[in-house]
Amino acid sequence: MATADVTKTDYYELLSVSRDASEQELKTAYRKVAMQYHPDRNPDNPEAEEMFKACSEAYQVLSDADKRAAYDRYGHAAFTGGAGGGGNPFAGGGFGGSAQGFNGQDLGDIFGDLFGEMFNMGGGGGRKASRVQRGRDLRYDLTLAFEEAVFGVEKEITIRRMETCVDCKGSGAAKGKAPVTCTQCGGRGQQRFQQGFFSVARACSVCGGTGTLIVDPCVTCKGQTVVQQEHSILVKVPAGVEQDTRIRYQGEGEAGKFAGPAGDLYVVLNVKAHKFFERDGDDLHCVMPISFPQAALGTELEIQTLEGPATIKIPEGTQSGKEFKLRSKGVPHLNSSGKGDLIVEIRVQTPNKLTKTQKELLRQLSETMIVENTPTSRGLFEKVKDMFS
Ligand SMILES: [Zn+2]
Ligand SMILES: [Zn+2]
Repeated sequence: MATADVTKTDYYELLSVSRDASEQELKTAYRKVAMQYHPDRNPDNPEAEEMFKACSEAYQVLSDADKRAAYDRYGHAAFTGGAGGGGNPFAGGGFGGSAQGFNGQDLGDIFGDLFGEMFNMGGGGGRKASRVQRGRDLRYDLTLAFEEAVFGVEKEITIRRMETCVDCKGSGAAKGKAPVTCTQCGGRGQQRFQQGFFSVARACSVCGGTGTLIVDPCVTCKGQTVVQQEHSILVKVPAGVEQDTRIRYQGEGEAGKFAGPAGDLYVVLNVKAHKFFERDGDDLHCVMPISFPQAALGTELEIQTLEGPATIKIPEGTQSGKEFKLRSKGVPHLNSSGKGDLIVEIRVQTPNKLTKTQKELLRQLSETMIVENTPTSRGLFEKVKDMFS
């Protein structure tokens, strides 16, 4: 593969996964290609290095739900900034440069990050494991009334989450005490073993590779560095959201252990159904039954829109299935101005409970109308309809 093309290759193709690959499938696929192209395994091979960088970038994007959504929508343009895509939430956000973080990363980092396991390539490194962990992301399911999703709403929610212990400020050590150097490994975090010709480094079993030990744990959090707390957040739901819209609150998830960065909170919206409106994107649909005389003679109908009553003029000779569009009476567009439309489908009702008089009137009407009841193709049906007018 030509190196120049690698960065433009589709992220899903780079990782050899389908577009609907799950998080776990992405992880597995990335692990495979990272092993294959890692510079340590391909010394002096610039092509492998390019592939490694490209795959790392692909994984970084696809493993982040928001970035993945942007990528699915805008492709690579989502992260280049210079592409001039209007309304692109990531343009110019500096994401394009972040893949550089992978350049100096060794296999231990990748697998440490991904799988939380120590991975030693033998000999090299001398890198200490960090206790610091990123906090977990949290999900909160918020149910909205149909109108709340259309017009937007503010709701206060209360979540239970782990927060950094105030007493030890996330150190895990009791007041006035600091973690002490591990005597087993002398603070290096590693123990070395001789295996045949090789000297192999392993994480220190006493301190877990961190090089330090907490001798006097904080009483409040029992050395866990985080405690469970209730926390209220005002969720501002913008107008025009849909079922399964996610609102992300960066850093509002669980606190990381040992003062690590907090995870994110995702508020996932569930929208209740409306009595008669159905949503199709930002358009609203409903069905309006009318009688045969109303359809044949024409009429004016009053319809309740989400913003009050409106009138539809039904012209003479309106057929069942005819749709009337009320412009801008639909749902506000989520990220731009303007609104969708309200589409009213007319259904002509055939009466099934008629009085004697009504039946007689219909018989008289019927005698004045000559209809050939012969089958016709769908295309010709429109012309057959004209027989009534
Ligand atoms: Zn504490
Ligand atoms: Zn140790």
